[in-house]
Amino acid sequence: MTKILVSACFLGEKVRYDGKCQSLLNETLLHWQQNKQVVSFCPEVAGGLSVPRQPAEIQNKSQRIVTCDGVDVSEQFNKGAQRALKLCQQHNIGIALLKESSPSCGSTTIYDGTFTDKKINGEGVTTALLRKNGIRVFSEKNISVLIQEMMSINEKP
Ligand code: SF4
Repeated sequence: MTKILVSACFLGEKVRYDGKCQSLLNETLLHWQQNKQVVSFCPEVAGGLSVPRQPAEIQNKSQRIVTCDGVDVSEQFNKGAQRALKLCQQHNIGIALLKESSPSCGSTTIYDGTFTDKKINGEGVTTALLRKNGIRVFSEKNISVLIQEMMSINEKP
């Protein structure tokens, strides 16, 4: 059975920086959960950050990840990304559904590093590492494409 890595905050887990979740209500996702195809993961918590925590953004020029009060959390972000990759390799996962715009999980946009709510094109730390290793990353914005991909994989003999 094909498994998929999913951002834990989509699955009702209160792991976001603000101590909340970002539940993604989708029938197919629910079906995959019931089928035990979903591997839930939060790279920031896995990297050692607490809940709640200060919001962090990727600093565009240096590529460091820094909180709004100036603490460099690059090490924790990178550790979380490595753990995500390891988990995918352990479960033979080739597809991930990750939360858009997060500095870990974003797949087409991220915040611009100025903490002024501005987004730019880019990808989060975990997404970048997974993609470098051949794992396809989708977000809630293109979940319909992901569902089609999963259906075609499951239909293969
Ligand atoms: S790091 Fe990813 S999984 Fe964790 S709270 Fe942020 S978006 Fe959700």
